[in-house]
Amino acid sequence: MQDNYRRNINYLRVSVTDRCNLRCVYCMPPQGVQTIPHEEILRIEEIETIVRAAALIGVKKIRLTGGEPLLRKGLAQLTKQVASIPGIDDITLTTNGLLLPSCVAELKEAGINRVNISLDTLRADRYREITRGGDLSRVWKGIQLALDAGFHPVKLNTVIIRNFNDDEVVSMARLTLKRPLHIRFIELMPIGSSDSWAKGCFVPAGEIMGQITARLGQLFPVKNLTGSGPAKYYRFKDGTGTVGFITSMSEHFCNSCNRLRLTASGGLRPCLYDEREIDLKTPLRNGAGVKEITGLFMDAVAMKPDRHHMLDGWRDEQRVMSQIGG
Ligand code: SAM
Ligand code: SF4
Repeated sequence: MQDNYRRNINYLRVSVTDRCNLRCVYCMPPQGVQTIPHEEILRIEEIETIVRAAALIGVKKIRLTGGEPLLRKGLAQLTKQVASIPGIDDITLTTNGLLLPSCVAELKEAGINRVNISLDTLRADRYREITRGGDLSRVWKGIQLALDAGFHPVKLNTVIIRNFNDDEVVSMARLTLKRPLHIRFIELMPIGSSDSWAKGCFVPAGEIMGQITARLGQLFPVKNLTGSGPAKYYRFKDGTGTVGFITSMSEHFCNSCNRLRLTASGGLRPCLYDEREIDLKTPLRNGAGVKEITGLFMDAVAMKPDRHHMLDGWRDEQRVMSQIGG
């Protein structure tokens, strides 16, 4: 379905839980955020009904995210149910990777096509620091198992933070020379708990790319990387994987935004950065079916703003990234 700005809305990001086993400094406060009571979280069958409605307005791609989606019980079952919905042809996952070893094969079998794994540093001490306790070796195990399971492409999401990991961009880009990994450098966004300090820590993608090419040589644009979304991808002359940049702040890509977001508690959000949400859970629990939910999807598409206003600061008092679904 087209929105008021002639964008084709065909992608829904589904937050399956607001809970997480890490506390990344740019995403959550140290104590975590107040979790939503279990009964307020959407049930699997409710998510299925919502995705059926989404498919009727033209959604084809679903990304399962969170919080940490691998903490959600029944994720493989949910994936199977979503995969069987007519019109849905791509199901992907964004995860911190820690729990992949226990479920990667099951998720592939259930119908996940691709995975994005978040990894902000190659140094174990820094990983512990930025995630407030995470074990880097477990993430690498998850990445390797994802490759072995045949997921393609495996993308790594890397948020670059000034004076923390900006000295690692060259070593991270180097990973793509020999391995089929697709690293995406994401500009830090002033969202939720990171709002107060993000400004001083922001590194524009142009600067990251400049550092990489100065050390490793020219990057050549790549077209047609599956699920390329808002990232711009490049490859070294003899590279195996690719290097991507997501310029949410320095060069927003709102004019090609094709997505809606579903929060773990059933809020349908037209834009990450707009606090307005349409509540789907209450109507669902009051007996609404696919037809009524389809109508609410149309309302959400009509509400989609032309662009985000992140440079003005975070306005949503209620939610942080892990609750909306990054
Ligand atoms: N827990 C999963 C993970 O970490 O991949 C999925 C949810 S997480 C919110 C999704 C993505 O959002 C991660 O790649 C994370 O790095 C990114 N993210 C969170 N807060 C961010 C911020 N303030 N700026 C940029 N990216 C952010
Ligand atoms: Fe958890 Fe992902 Fe947020 Fe890190 S970025 S705290 S792993 S939800």
